[in-house]
Amino acid sequence: MIYLDNAATTKPHKEVLDSFVKVNESVYYNPNSPHKMGLQAEKVLNQAKERINQLLFGKQPYDVIFTSGATESNNIALKGVALRKKQFANEIITSVLEHPSVLEVMRYLETQGFVLKYVNVKENGQIDMDHLASLMNDKVGLVTCMYVNNIMGQIQPIDQIVELLKEYPKAHLHVDAVQALGKVPMTLTGVNSVSFSGHKFNGLKGQGLLLIDNKEKLEPIVHGGGQEYGVRSGTVNLAMDVSLVKAIDLAVSNLDERHTKLASFNEDLRSFFKDYKGVYINSPENGAPQILNIAFPGVKGEVLVNAFSKLDIMVSTTSACSSKRGKLNEVLLAMNINEDKIEGSIRLSLGDTTTQEDINQFKEKFETIYTEVKELLK
Ligand code: PMP
Repeated sequence: MIYLDNAATTKPHKEVLDSFVKVNESVYYNPNSPHKMGLQAEKVLNQAKERINQLLFGKQPYDVIFTSGATESNNIALKGVALRKKQFANEIITSVLEHPSVLEVMRYLETQGFVLKYVNVKENGQIDMDHLASLMNDKVGLVTCMYVNNIMGQIQPIDQIVELLKEYPKAHLHVDAVQALGKVPMTLTGVNSVSFSGHKFNGLKGQGLLLIDNKEKLEPIVHGGGQEYGVRSGTVNLAMDVSLVKAIDLAVSNLDERHTKLASFNEDLRSFFKDYKGVYINSPENGAPQILNIAFPGVKGEVLVNAFSKLDIMVSTTSACSSKRGKLNEVLLAMNINEDKIEGSIRLSLGDTTTQEDINQFKEKFETIYTEVKELLK
């Protein structure tokens, strides 16, 4: 089986699983318990948070909140910050590029009286910085922008946004960096909060992370026993949290090597597809190396995904394909990609466990698919 759907989820690393089992066996106590074992668990929890800060930010101290995934992290950050600011800065800015766990929260906030604005997207998939500058004013309390897009792989100019927002001290910048960690070098300096999801970088599913420069900025979202600074109540899953540190450690420490490997696979695949008439690359050239969105105009994405699956190749479709334009994927539409190329798009996503052998086999088996569909290609 050739697994090329790593943007959906990844295989947990053995070290991550080992660390999960080990902590469950040895420190299964509740960090909130007042006894000696509870204190021991609390110490392990705090050490995990310290280590995450070191791995992701160097010395800069961020408050670390463990969650069940990036969906929850995004919900807590966006609702938590917006609700605190509502009285004095009720404008919020996003773009159609964002994952539903951001976009749907922003749309919900709009129903709660916030003024929602969308920043324009350029053809290369990056947000239009001039337009963002024109949307900014003293009423903007929240700007959210993902680091790497999960469908096309484009990287957003987070450093430029940080620079722009320096003139607007009320504006909080939240970054969904789910597809960036362990794949591209990240600069998070000046970002106010950031979300991650463990299973996207060979950690476990049901494990997420929210880092924020100051936890006091958050209105509590999950009410209860007051864990995680009262922002996200519920007994912490210490074994998962420690295993996440392991996954981050592995993701960050081998970044250069992995980036080089993925970039060479990406280049290899791009030049491979050039020889096939009627096949196009949707992803921008300078995007993250692990995501390659490809178009087969004239054939539906779902049909291709099934055909690949039959050959034991797991890829993903990216468009809620329908003949109606309204249902086409918004990210691709925003990048001005034509309808045929959206409907006929699939996403290959590579990861830490992808090998040269996977790429070679993919290329070999692709011949079969191409023979089946080539008459249909526009
Ligand atoms: N943001 C992005 C960019 C994602 O790709 C995903 C996962 N598809 C999420 C957020 C949500 O992560 P999770 O499903 O782990 O909550």
